[in-house]
Amino acid sequence: QPLTDQPITDVPASAALLARASAVIPGGVNSPVRAFRAVGGTPRFMAAGSGPWLTDADGNRYVDLICSWGPMILGHAHPDVLAAVNEAAARGFSFGTPSENEVALAEEIVARVEPVDQVRLVNSGTEATMSAIRLARGFTGRDVIVKFAGCYHGHVDALLASAGSGVATFALPDSAGVPRSSAGETIVLPYNDLAAVEAAFAERGHEIAAVITEAAPGNMGVVPPAPGFTEGLRRVTAAHGALLISDEVMTGFRCSRSGFYGLEGPYAGGAPDLFTFGKVMGGGFPTAAFGGRADVMAMLAPEGPVYQAGTLSGNPVASAAGLATLRGCTDEVYTRLDVVAHTIADAASAELTAASVPHTVQWAGSMFSVFFRDRPVTDYDGARDQDTDAFRRFFHSMLAQGVHLPPSAFESWFVSASHDDAAVEHVLAALPAAARAAAS
Ligand code: PLP
Repeated sequence: QPLTDQPITDVPASAALLARASAVIPGGVNSPVRAFRAVGGTPRFMAAGSGPWLTDADGNRYVDLICSWGPMILGHAHPDVLAAVNEAAARGFSFGTPSENEVALAEEIVARVEPVDQVRLVNSGTEATMSAIRLARGFTGRDVIVKFAGCYHGHVDALLASAGSGVATFALPDSAGVPRSSAGETIVLPYNDLAAVEAAFAERGHEIAAVITEAAPGNMGVVPPAPGFTEGLRRVTAAHGALLISDEVMTGFRCSRSGFYGLEGPYAGGAPDLFTFGKVMGGGFPTAAFGGRADVMAMLAPEGPVYQAGTLSGNPVASAAGLATLRGCTDEVYTRLDVVAHTIADAASAELTAASVPHTVQWAGSMFSVFFRDRPVTDYDGARDQDTDAFRRFFHSMLAQGVHLPPSAFESWFVSASHDDAAVEHVLAALPAAARAAAS
């Protein structure tokens, strides 16, 4: 049953905070997608989170299907993580020296992802991918990076490019402020198109340092790799002496205990050379990592010539949160994520079908998204070819009924192991009206 008798439409405290924020923070937000520009309306300023629930500044409660865009896999303020954070914080916040928590976190990651011999801890997914491409360039002595349209790897200059077609054309920067020279060293190809990758390597293989790909893209909505695609990337990169970087910032430790690699790997021809991680491994705190083959990682300072550093890298409190979160990710947790995700997705699909709303649900482990179109999506062009107005109406109906979806049609929905039956029932109860709204 809905928690409130009245739909949540009036949010004066969030509106006041947005006005205050907008005076001192561009757009009132510290990350653009939070601003609700794609869906309109007032972003909810959250005051608290507990398990699967968020409480906004007006006291409204929502079932959270964002989960901080992935990290909150155990739910908000999980008691074990909270205890680990309190214990670590009581012993000091940051030392600027090595400390044990970061070692334990690195060991946990290395133990889980078989091809990863070593990791370096950083503070965000963006830093992880930025450092991984610098390392790949340093290792190979080459400059060019291949990425796929619709894959997001953080706001790294060279990786913001997503436009541009074909091998001969340099990609245009998507963001003002990205130097043409930087975007010009990025080749952007359509996802799931191995022939395009082969053509790019045939032409410029000797210049290409690395291919970076989301292990399973979640940033254009969920678009899983076609069978053999990642394996094909492994084959082509290896043949040309380029590295393969698998970005598991979103999928890592969420799709399985060892990420999407745990579902799909190992590949014929070997594992990716480098991986990037973030989100779940920080348990909601700013920590992330990149890692992989020992001989490649040995190029990093202070062992080797590729410089990379950070005042707060390996922060003891963040490392404690990440470690407690990873240790909490038991088999039962992954089973629960699957049950919750499938229950919600199946019900959403059934209600949209009943309301005659064209849609397609796509999966990567327990990550899923609902595309408002009737055909499968295999690449960015397909993802963009959907009814975003229908999504907007669906989103606002869910929000008014106390269910907070990601405020964009191009995102995965995230669940947590704390989504109990009451939270799931609340989502299911909201779906029929939202599906009708989408149809209207
Ligand atoms: N890589 C992927 C696959 C991501 O999904 C994200 C963020 O959503 C990033 C990198 C960047 O991570 P961060 O936002 O922590 O910089």
